[in-house]
Amino acid sequence: PRITLLAGGVGGAKLAEGLAAVCPPQRLSIIGNVADDQEFHGLWVSPDIDTLTYSLAGLIDRQQGWGLAGESHRLLEGLATLGCETWMSLGDRDLATHVLRTQLRRQGMRPSDIARHIATALGVEVELLLPTDDRLQTRIRTPEGWLAFQEYFVRERCRPDVLQVRLDGVETARPTPEALAAIADADLLLIAPSNPVVSIAPILAVPGIREAIEASPAPCLAVSPLIGGRTVKGPADRMLVAAGRECSNLGVADGYAPWLDGLMIDHADAADRDHLEARGLRVATTRTLMADAADKARLAGELLAFAETLH
Ligand code: GDP
Ligand code: CA
Repeated sequence: PRITLLAGGVGGAKLAEGLAAVCPPQRLSIIGNVADDQEFHGLWVSPDIDTLTYSLAGLIDRQQGWGLAGESHRLLEGLATLGCETWMSLGDRDLATHVLRTQLRRQGMRPSDIARHIATALGVEVELLLPTDDRLQTRIRTPEGWLAFQEYFVRERCRPDVLQVRLDGVETARPTPEALAAIADADLLLIAPSNPVVSIAPILAVPGIREAIEASPAPCLAVSPLIGGRTVKGPADRMLVAAGRECSNLGVADGYAPWLDGLMIDHADAADRDHLEARGLRVATTRTLMADAADKARLAGELLAFAETLH
């Protein structure tokens, strides 16, 4: 079957790796998130796409879950000496990606083509797609005012309260034909255990993407990013509340209703099963923590088996 996965950064890349381990690369397409993108030192940085690329290329720093393994930070040290703000940790080899991306953007290459060019150059075989080539920016309102996503996430380490989440550029964003085709051609649509509010919602919000999923006859399954009602890492739980949703698997499923067919949840949240089933969802429980390559492949395999039971 042809599989299309919607994925954010670290949580998304883990499932992407698992799927890449259990299905042939030509059958897997991944649509990533570009709303976390930001310019640093004149360079266009696309953290979620890079996390997917580096993970699938086997180059990721496994300890951190992002960035390249074995990095040095000479360039950042130089920038700090020159008085620049260096809270965004950008390694020397990682910066090569951002230099090339920025150069190709200036030459007028489509962001989608750039993402593919970089992924291919690093040896990624699965199709990595952008939901839009237009500029999309998540902004977070905190008690101190509006912050760019990376300012909130990295500079402020997710400490401020989240009062509101906004997605700039969404009204005029156009979906890429590749993302629409990957959704239309899929036999199975999957949503990674990524942040529902700032990783998956910005993909779904691109006009045409949600409609394509709704129009697809393929079953759609999600893996919950919550374990024991809490995030493994990051602010997704607090963001669900800020978005006026319940911080639970029901709150996760709400964002994907009414087209979501099933949700894979952790054993720790087995008590949610009845509530989810009452909403017409199929539920599978398993260990959803992906600590190593074996966990990732196992979870991906279980997800495909879950999909089989829907026919
Ligand atoms: P980001 O863009 O780097 O913030 O990453 P994502 O949005 O893709 O993923 C963040 C979410 O991944 C968080 O809400 C975590 O709870 C979730 N997550 C991370 N690792 C795991 C895991 O091993 N299993 C599950 N179920 N969720 C995970
Ligand atoms: Ca992200």
